[in-house]
Amino acid sequence: MLDEPVTRLSGVGPAAAKQLAALGVRSVRDLLEHYPRRYADAGEVVDLAAVEVGQPATLVGEVIDAHVRPIAPKGRGRRDIAELTVRQAGGGVFRVSFFNQRWMADRLAPGTVAAFSGKVGEFRGQLQLASPKVEVLGHVRAGRSAEEAAEELKHQRLLPIYPATGALPSDRIRAFVATALEAVGALGDWLDPALREREGLVELDTALRLIHLPEHWDDVTRARARLVFDELLVLQLGLQWRRRRLEDGMLGLDNAPTDAGLGARLIDALPFTPTGAQRRAFDGIAADLALERPMHRLLQGDVGSGKTLVALWTMLAAVDRGRQAALMAPTELLAEQHLRTLTTLLAPLGVNAPGGVRIELLTSSTTAAQRRRILDDLAGGDVDLVVGTHALIEDGVRFRGLGVVVIDEQHRFGVSQRVALKDKTNAEGDAGTAAADARDVLPDVLVMTATPIPRSLALTVYGDLDVTVLDELPPGRTPVRTTLLDPASSDRRERLYDHIRRQAGIGLRAYVVCPLVEAGESGATSAVEHHRHLAEDVFPDLTVELVHGRLRADDKESAMRRFREGEAQVLVATTVIEVGVDVPEATTMVIEDAERFGLSQLHQLRGRVGRGADVSDCALMASQPLDELTEDARARLEAMVATTDGFALAATDLDLRGAGQLFGRRQSGLPDLKLARIDRDLDVIGRTRDLARDVVAADPRHEDPAHATMHGEVVRRFADDLEGLEALETG
Ligand code: ADP
Ligand code: MG
Repeated sequence: MLDEPVTRLSGVGPAAAKQLAALGVRSVRDLLEHYPRRYADAGEVVDLAAVEVGQPATLVGEVIDAHVRPIAPKGRGRRDIAELTVRQAGGGVFRVSFFNQRWMADRLAPGTVAAFSGKVGEFRGQLQLASPKVEVLGHVRAGRSAEEAAEELKHQRLLPIYPATGALPSDRIRAFVATALEAVGALGDWLDPALREREGLVELDTALRLIHLPEHWDDVTRARARLVFDELLVLQLGLQWRRRRLEDGMLGLDNAPTDAGLGARLIDALPFTPTGAQRRAFDGIAADLALERPMHRLLQGDVGSGKTLVALWTMLAAVDRGRQAALMAPTELLAEQHLRTLTTLLAPLGVNAPGGVRIELLTSSTTAAQRRRILDDLAGGDVDLVVGTHALIEDGVRFRGLGVVVIDEQHRFGVSQRVALKDKTNAEGDAGTAAADARDVLPDVLVMTATPIPRSLALTVYGDLDVTVLDELPPGRTPVRTTLLDPASSDRRERLYDHIRRQAGIGLRAYVVCPLVEAGESGATSAVEHHRHLAEDVFPDLTVELVHGRLRADDKESAMRRFREGEAQVLVATTVIEVGVDVPEATTMVIEDAERFGLSQLHQLRGRVGRGADVSDCALMASQPLDELTEDARARLEAMVATTDGFALAATDLDLRGAGQLFGRRQSGLPDLKLARIDRDLDVIGRTRDLARDVVAADPRHEDPAHATMHGEVVRRFADDLEGLEALETG
């Protein structure tokens, strides 16, 4: 029943099924897992005397009178007003009116209990909501005494309000859910009863009924506790079983760095000393590299915290052992950027010269002839380090002995890429290592992300990774000054352009980021048009370049090169420059339509400046007056002005958006978290992670019949899109 389509339920026809599908609800189970967004408390009494005229309010009450009153036609056509008198549970009365919506008087007949949200007005001395948003909560029987009515209200005090659409309002969803709960009968529980009791949780069947039909707030709390626990435990179990499965039968490599190795020589030759955080990262990674178990570690650090050095140091450990290392970047631009950074860092050790380290770039723009040569040299073991994009894991790429893989920006890479790596390493040609037996070898993997996320979130989303945090910036950085401008302040825009021109005069440069490539319906600023405007109208005296994702790779690269080398002083771009691009002379960042960007995106963009010794500025240009922005948009922009600390911003982002969206299912390849909130459910995250570790350590291949139900639940919830699913199932 649970996995049957919703049309199996009586009262749900094809039309309703289509409306439900728009909410992502297809099966009966989807419907049961379509949890209320919130609850309206029908017994909630807002003190009408304290309600402020002109302010928005939500008032709940029972309609006691509803009628339609015509109003004198001023022009042609009928006009009328549906007028309701509504009484709160406490007896206070207010008025609700709908202009030219006479059907409202029928829909909201006396006895209807509803929540009305809108701006509070006044009509003949009485509080009035004109054309408010309405959510019907229920009905009380007509012709009962005031006491009976109060009693009835009490029984449906907490009314679930569902994520709904215009075509399918919350009260119809509520009816469908009630039908579903009845139709499914008693639901089985996948959780071991002893564990459930130890955790003080209610049964699944109870939890599902209470979340949809609570009588008291306490019911909601108990239901939520159980369902959140389920979501998080399944997630942790899935991540850890998946990791075990991937590593099962796999051998790690001993890549322990040595005292006289390339890594140590690199550090000695640096023009600066590593930060404390970088040193701690070296230590943690060195321990992992030495283990027989393959490393799978997340390196996260704010923009500019020096992750590239740590990555290079890790890769050199493989080279020391006669193996190879690969760095995979999500875009070509980034791959090229990494190649440049690595080459600079390696210069003192000698690069692509006799006796030095040999490094190559492999992307989809690599010519066929070059590609053939690089592939030959990789297979022959002549190339030490290779930097590239997805091209690195294509067919035909073989390594002689791949020891270390660094993946930049994990959340743009899927699990499947890591699985694919497995097959690249069969060519391990070491003699004399433990690889003498037939087992496959898995390289050590370091995942880098510049999205600073709180540790709790890292442990959830990357539950299968060990985590290293670079929580310290190299000294001598000047924090970027951030200002927020709205379109009304045109003189400030002029001053900004003057500033850019003056900076250009002393060899400094500016980025101007736009949300769109070409003009579209949304009315957002397009990079193509803005580039024309800046080049022709504003900076005819400067060279203004343009990069965006639709340019050919070599055009993109030559525009970037001219900007990097100072031939161009202004670079108009889309978010292609979001990560990694490193031009120390760029000191001004202008972000057009800044309210359209997410907080972490804004932070990444701002990270493109402030990379040298000069003072840098970031100007956030809102496209609307600040007081017309949504509350969220304003909060994001104000947070950017308030701090440059990426971790603080990530915490704000979590608050504003919730983690589910921060790491959407599509991006992360993980099952949805519908109820769990990473910011609020910290203790459950910790508990479920520990529990999952114990279960998976004791039963890495899920062979224990006692875990069969649990494992089944994990497979089911990961099922839709988990790339590693076959890995779980064939286990
Ligand atoms: P991230 O990738 O974390 O944003 P990078 O690795 O690109 O940061 O480093 C930013 C810049 O800081 C680079 O130019 C790098 O050479 C430099 N850098 C790295 N570590 C240090 C350090 N300990 N002291 C000074 N400069 C450093
Ligand atoms: Mg970098």
